[in-house]
Amino acid sequence: MNCFECATDQQTTTPAVTVCSQCGAASCVRHTRVAHAHEEVDYSPGAPSELDLGRRMFCTTCAPASAKQVGA
Ligand SMILES: [Zn+2]
Ligand SMILES: [Zn+2]
Repeated sequence: MNCFECATDQQTTTPAVTVCSQCGAASCVRHTRVAHAHEEVDYSPGAPSELDLGRRMFCTTCAPASAKQVGA
């Protein structure tokens, strides 16, 4: 599978390294963003109000503001 962003924006073919967890588009290292998904949970004293659901990969379109670029 090839990177969706490369194929549509630049008409180039780049092997994809991951699939966006939101839209399912394949993306290359340059077009992949990594973030941690959080889920709000009911607040209780002494317990965190957010649950870390683990790592999520996103394409450039779906990446949240907190997402980081991977590779170079
Ligand atoms: Zn790409
Ligand atoms: Zn996406």
